[in-house]
Amino acid sequence: MMGQLVAHGHRPTAHPEQADLIVVNTCAFIRPAQEESVEAILEAVRLKHSGKPKKLVVAGCLVERFGEEIRRELPEVDGLVGVNDVGRVVEICEGRAAPAGTGGPYLYSHVTPRLQATPAHYAYIKIAEGCEHTCAFCIIPRLRGPFRSRPLDSIVAEAAGLFARGVREINLVAQDTTAYGEDLGLKDGLATLLARLACLKTPRPGWVRFLYAHPNKITDRLLETLAAHPALVRYLDIPLQHASARLLRRMRRGGSGRIYLRLIEKIRRALPGAALRTSLMVGFPGETQADFDELVRFVEAAQFDHLGVFGYSDEETSASFRLDGKLDGRAIYNRKRGLLALQRRISRARLRQWLGREVPVLVEGPSRETDLLWQARLPSQAPEIDGVCLINDVRGTPPRRGELRRLRVTATHDYDLVGTLLEESADGKPAR
Ligand code: SF4
Repeated sequence: MMGQLVAHGHRPTAHPEQADLIVVNTCAFIRPAQEESVEAILEAVRLKHSGKPKKLVVAGCLVERFGEEIRRELPEVDGLVGVNDVGRVVEICEGRAAPAGTGGPYLYSHVTPRLQATPAHYAYIKIAEGCEHTCAFCIIPRLRGPFRSRPLDSIVAEAAGLFARGVREINLVAQDTTAYGEDLGLKDGLATLLARLACLKTPRPGWVRFLYAHPNKITDRLLETLAAHPALVRYLDIPLQHASARLLRRMRRGGSGRIYLRLIEKIRRALPGAALRTSLMVGFPGETQADFDELVRFVEAAQFDHLGVFGYSDEETSASFRLDGKLDGRAIYNRKRGLLALQRRISRARLRQWLGREVPVLVEGPSRETDLLWQARLPSQAPEIDGVCLINDVRGTPPRRGELRRLRVTATHDYDLVGTLLEESADGKPAR
């Protein structure tokens, strides 16, 4: 949306109180995200009452879910951009469009104007939209529509353009990345796409990673492809949600802890040193103490490198809203805290293996925690969601954002590493 607006002469500002137009892009996945989105809209309404902006537009999933309510309750909102209206964001912001929700399924392409919102050294590429799964707790298929993939050549062209502009790391995302290409008739579409991206001629070496894999679709070919290409990061993010087969059935997902442990073993055999990330949900309706204990044993056995835990959030339009056995907020909170405490211990122990080793890192810039240190990331640390490497000593050239260099690990914490940045770059050549 920013790219399209900029291409039509609008200029972005980091100061909302100075903007003539504010577009609030919203999320409606779970209740806390909805509340955060509503708070952002109300903040923009308050600004509008004080004279700036002149125009306020709300975009994204909240529009799909509560468009009517926003229209009725908030006359200050001048326009709505539903998920399929993104291609018409300029007309809507300029007050020249038909009402929201009239467009067909939207997918951007490599020619859609893009303004990179991430730091210059990494970027996300959305490779598909929508989802065909029917997880009982999830309203994404209803908000985002049926699964549809971008053409392979369009993704490759976008990636080539980003690498040419200096991006060093590309992260492929979608609601269900491992289904990439199924609707285009591609078999093992994600593996095919990754192989193409890994063979791109780039000005400097770069990394390619994908996020949000479905556990049912980790194919042999996908693992072989990851093993074959050094540019493909050995990192698998597979949201598993739970380990109790009974609860997974109730979630309409299938699978079990036993099946998932076999999958993890297979991944680690095929890709030695691979980093594994998952997301789990606690407090789903009907989750008994025995289900939760099974989940705890599973996490202990799986030894994930990174783990996110969500507390179940009741959403009226999800299938799970009608289920019995709802847990109260305190019980959900306690289970979430218990699981995160376990993962903290696992992460701390796993990170100790890096102590004294020299590892490739992508230099990011000043640390998020303190201006006194710089930070970098290993291939096994995805941007924004995982830990980082803090740099407390530098050998040779001062660090620059977006450099691939080596780091000697001198200390480890619960989620972060600390180390000395070395002169040599990760591709074996001196740092530039
Ligand atoms: S696979 Fe993910 S996006 Fe699709 S329905 Fe399940 S949780 Fe939602």
